[in-house]
Amino acid sequence: MALTGIQIFKLLPKTNCKECGVPTCLAFAMNLASGKAELDACPYVSDEARAQLAEASAPPIRPVSIGKGVRKTKAGGETVMYRHEKTFFNPTLFAGIITSDTPEADVDAKVAAWNALQYERVGLNLRPELVALKDVNGDKVAFATLAKNISEKSEFNLILMSEDADVISAAVETAGFKRPLIYAATDATVDAFGKIALDNNLPLAVKADSIDGIAALTDKLVGMGVKDLVIDTGSRDLKQALEDQVALRRAALKDLNRSLGFPTITFPGEMTSNGDMEALIAAMFVAKYGGIVVLSDLSTEVIFPLLLERLNIFTDPQRPMTVTEGIFEIGTPDENSPVLVTTNFALTYFIVSGEIEASKVSAYLLIKDSEGLSVLTAWAAGKFGGDDVGMFVKKSGIMDKVKHNELIIPGYAAAIAGDVEEELPGWTITVGPREAAHLPGFLKARV
Ligand code: SF4
Repeated sequence: MALTGIQIFKLLPKTNCKECGVPTCLAFAMNLASGKAELDACPYVSDEARAQLAEASAPPIRPVSIGKGVRKTKAGGETVMYRHEKTFFNPTLFAGIITSDTPEADVDAKVAAWNALQYERVGLNLRPELVALKDVNGDKVAFATLAKNISEKSEFNLILMSEDADVISAAVETAGFKRPLIYAATDATVDAFGKIALDNNLPLAVKADSIDGIAALTDKLVGMGVKDLVIDTGSRDLKQALEDQVALRRAALKDLNRSLGFPTITFPGEMTSNGDMEALIAAMFVAKYGGIVVLSDLSTEVIFPLLLERLNIFTDPQRPMTVTEGIFEIGTPDENSPVLVTTNFALTYFIVSGEIEASKVSAYLLIKDSEGLSVLTAWAAGKFGGDDVGMFVKKSGIMDKVKHNELIIPGYAAAIAGDVEEELPGWTITVGPREAAHLPGFLKARV
């Protein structure tokens, strides 16, 4: 259960030594309670107090690590019901199902096709993370061989799906090195599945047909020492499945019910036979608390919009996405190439750089830190003023790269042209187009 600032203060040394960077232990306690400080910043917390504080500050929904390598990821770790309250932390993971009776060559082709489903947006690589290998015939040798191949030949991590503990064991032997998620322990298999998870330190999903049944399973597994758990409430009815997701999140966050404080796994493909409807249900689970969404197949038309939805929902609403301040080379610019300047709002950067790229005119794009605001907003907020922009251009190092003295500023920032000119004597300040879409024509006309 989360502690208040006063409760945390009682556990601190109360010497006000300031080594944590704030004047008093009380101020540090308040920062700790609101998530603005890390406990490690105070070197004098006793071991006993540290243990109490660590337990109290554990996220109400346990973050569960799944996989190894470049697509290693986490589910859970959420602390709020609604994104605007703070932020959602660990994006919903996407998996595609491959059944164990699929010929090896077809599996290779499918995994290669799924691996190509990667999209660059705002400097991030958006892609699905998991392959859900589903046992359909109890053939443990075939299942283990496919698990091994997928693990060794691809970046994907695995969900191992079987009702048979022997089948799971065989696959853990060949693919356990990739830290797969085991799916799923039920009332009938909890002992056997729990032992496999415990012995191999692997995350384990649990499945029951009621919330009470889930709590009984998680309590038992935690008692056995298996802590990395994922919940499937078993419902394949849309309304009930949504209600389950909300009930679990509420129970973990509001009632601080540790038995239900785990990420969830959902199967939209088991709720409908219509592919479009499956995608819509998947979108619902991205918005409403699905930790992992397992799709019957992965295709561009389904996964791309889901990845974009995920990007939007799991972006911190209090922090605009930014790019680093500096000089960005578009194409192969030389000393005669045009120099443009804009703000460090990620969307602005990617739209402007994309349009410059489309123009086929190599250029230098100067990105000034404007705390993630777009041009007009940054100008209105005093973060893209003429003096600042001029100073930034001077310090950027661009003068060592070009032999001309012309700077192109965004059309929306025309008002700063005079001030930039004053700050950069001898430079010509050219006002560019207002809309980035007009940049290609503007740049080509100058060549
Ligand atoms: Fe108090 Fe620890 Fe901060 Fe010192 S470092 S002021 S003891 S909280």
